[in-house]
Amino acid sequence: MTSNAPLTWPDLPARQQPSWPDVDELAEAQNTLASYPPLVFAGECDVLMDRLAEASRGEAFVLMGGDCAETFASATADNIRDRVKTILQMAAVLTYGASMPVVKIGRMAGQYAKPRSKDTEVRGGQELPAYRGDMVNDFAFAPQNRRPDPARLVRAYHASSATLNLVRAFTQGGFGDLRHVHDWNRGFIANQANQRYERIARDIDRAIRFMAACGADFEALRRVDVWASHEALLLDYERPLTRIDSRTGRPYATSGHFLWVGERTRDLHEAHIDFVTRITNPVGVKVGPTATPEDLLAIIDRVDPDRVPGRLTFITRMGRDVVRTNLPPLLRAVKDSGALVTWVCDPMHGNTFESDNGYKTRRFEDIVEEVRGFFEAHADAGTHPGGMHVELTGNDVTECLGGVMHLADADLERRYETLCDPRLNHQQSLELAFVVAEMLAAR
Ligand code: PEP
Ligand code: MN
Repeated sequence: MTSNAPLTWPDLPARQQPSWPDVDELAEAQNTLASYPPLVFAGECDVLMDRLAEASRGEAFVLMGGDCAETFASATADNIRDRVKTILQMAAVLTYGASMPVVKIGRMAGQYAKPRSKDTEVRGGQELPAYRGDMVNDFAFAPQNRRPDPARLVRAYHASSATLNLVRAFTQGGFGDLRHVHDWNRGFIANQANQRYERIARDIDRAIRFMAACGADFEALRRVDVWASHEALLLDYERPLTRIDSRTGRPYATSGHFLWVGERTRDLHEAHIDFVTRITNPVGVKVGPTATPEDLLAIIDRVDPDRVPGRLTFITRMGRDVVRTNLPPLLRAVKDSGALVTWVCDPMHGNTFESDNGYKTRRFEDIVEEVRGFFEAHADAGTHPGGMHVELTGNDVTECLGGVMHLADADLERRYETLCDPRLNHQQSLELAFVVAEMLAAR
């Protein structure tokens, strides 16, 4: 178990934090969080670290996915089920393509805080604080809604706790049984537009029948591990949930199994990198197109000085146009340094643009192209492409363009629901899994 002994934190600059209007309310919320039980356990984080170490050595493939920004309103049973279902369906296809275990990580149960390009938003002459995620304020554009409210930190904890409870129930209770998951994927293939993937689905079918004929222990396959991850952005939430594990005597973030530092907060001398150096969990750092080999080597020295396998994941988000030029020097520099990290491709954040009709969107084809470039870069550098990180939902939203459904600009308004970045819908997510499975199988 973990103890709630208070930890001390250095006073470092921290970007992207809200200005809470009431410090007493903040202290109260933090004390409440500090008194609550951990959402995840240290031993679970250690197991995930081992899984990520496998991915760093090319013995497993990571699939991390979920909303750009979770919201309290969308933390419903159906939404959570459908997101988990989408991740499991994708994982089944990727497992087949890679012939390797897939490490399934939900970008969920804590993804409630967002970095923003501006502190305020102006509409119709009125200037209000920017929406920073449900953990901070409300999306509705009115002064009382946009006021940062520390009570939301506590609500985020409860929403995360309920989400994680359901994820654990689904994944340990038989919902994730490979045979069900494959049945769901049959529904996807039944659609005429997806005929192209029929062969993979048929091969998986045959593999399952082969396993059954050999007397495989399907009972064991009824339980799957789905881990929880989010961006460690809001330090006022993360710090009170950081606890000392009594077994190892080391601090762990207990808000999620895997936490990452975003592209905008990864300054080596600031509070976010400092935070992840102090926790024992496996952690990620997002890496954009301007990152230099020196930046990455310095991050490795700070975040993973002991070179613990699975400890550090670089989540690269280059953009389709530059992934083939900007990624290889980074891969080579890290490889030449002798360090081993897990490389995960985020093909979403380097490919965002505004559609002609004013929606923040991404093209399915650009996303596929960045993943393809990621595999090529690793093949050239002789490093392991360890996985992918995608923004997705289990719902039939219309936020990203393209895919076999050929979503066009005019379709975006039909069901554009994200409060932050555009997500792949259920169909697009599965299609991506099949395309990437083909890439993995062709290696
Ligand atoms: C995100 O993952 O939603 C995000 C803000 O990404 P990045 O830090 O890569 O910009
Ligand atoms: Mn995003």
